[in-house]
Amino acid sequence: MNSMTITEKILAAHAGKESVSPGENLWVDVDYLMTHDVFGPDVVRIFQAEFGQDAKIWNKKRFALIPDHYIFTKDILANKNIEFLNDFAAKNELPYYYQPFTDRYSGVCHSTLAQEGFDVPGGLLIGTDSHTCTSGAFGMFSTGVGTTDGAFVLGTGKIWLNVPESIKVVFEGEMPKYLSAKDLILHLIGDIGVNGASYKAIEFTGGAIENMNMEGRMTLCNMVIEAGAKNGIIAADKVALDYIGDRAKGPIKIVNSDTGAKYCLVKRYNVQNIEPTVARPHSPDNKATARSEANTKIDRAYIGSCTGGSIADFTAAAEIVFGKKVAVDTFIVPATEKVNKQIKQVTFKEKTLYDIFVEAGCQIGLPSCAACLGGPEDTFARAKDGQIVISTTNRNFPGRMGSPKSFVYLASPFTTMASALTGKITDPRDL
Ligand code: SF4
Repeated sequence: MNSMTITEKILAAHAGKESVSPGENLWVDVDYLMTHDVFGPDVVRIFQAEFGQDAKIWNKKRFALIPDHYIFTKDILANKNIEFLNDFAAKNELPYYYQPFTDRYSGVCHSTLAQEGFDVPGGLLIGTDSHTCTSGAFGMFSTGVGTTDGAFVLGTGKIWLNVPESIKVVFEGEMPKYLSAKDLILHLIGDIGVNGASYKAIEFTGGAIENMNMEGRMTLCNMVIEAGAKNGIIAADKVALDYIGDRAKGPIKIVNSDTGAKYCLVKRYNVQNIEPTVARPHSPDNKATARSEANTKIDRAYIGSCTGGSIADFTAAAEIVFGKKVAVDTFIVPATEKVNKQIKQVTFKEKTLYDIFVEAGCQIGLPSCAACLGGPEDTFARAKDGQIVISTTNRNFPGRMGSPKSFVYLASPFTTMASALTGKITDPRDL
């Protein structure tokens, strides 16, 4: 048996093979499937067209249906999507439908998968969303697919995959204060480019990763797609197992890469040498340091999404803004209902994060993707013509957060909130 990476081992196990090599095509068994309100209706329509109107889902307990994108809007088409999913979920008695406007509603799909125990070490998760690679933070193979593949998985529980080559990214050293996972991943993407890892697996390892919380690891794996990667992955350890606790929806299998595993590229960084980083408009690889952009005026700041809407992100932002007032419109969007509750419970210097944000003049939205994907005109915090936005989200293509005439800088929660305080891009160390 040849030495394998963690990605190769998981794919081999799900293909019923002893070993696999990059470039091989495989039929693999899928453990979990996720879709949401934007692509879910088409997944269902294709499933019904190809498998029959009354076809049975391959495994209801392995299917997470998580509306999150366009929820709090009057937009008729967006609301029709939710109604369509409500009907489908009711007809099929889906156990894991996180229905909007009920106590089942959760919020952003990738954050929900982790919170609800679908992110299981050694497992294989497919989602009809490009950031499905987020779940690799738990030592599983996860990737985003289109609606046709999603419909096929819904009917069969299988998918055809090509085994990717792996890139190893080592982050060594102790994280300096005010540096976060977002800085590391923006640094990496800036280094290798938006196609620097096309159809590759990116495996993160090193001391800085071992000491990183799950929210940070999810941000790293989430954004590998911005370098074109097929999946991101971090071997599960005690930090992952502690997060999972007793919520895993399936068996846990810790998988590690073999010592002799082959990588097509190895990148090593000492995090002590990485500075607070931003991605300038209009590409995640348009790297600069926060200090080099320090004279750039901003119109608004946005802290939310699957890479910036966790309780860890809001704790970081609260530390920066505590006792001060923001200088520009600043939007806080918890990723999920759970995070929405947490910001009212978690304290910094004996004040809840919620009170800190409200007293600073921030506006707090409801848990969802909100303006991360622009959304309908009435979406909370949607960017307008000519606005310059600094944001903890993960993409800054033209129009991504609303108007195609807006300009989005991607940054960490520390840098985003520091910039909100001064009204221009600000390195949090300079406050
Ligand atoms: S928060 Fe943004 S990146 Fe994450 S799932 Fe929603 S739209 Fe996609």
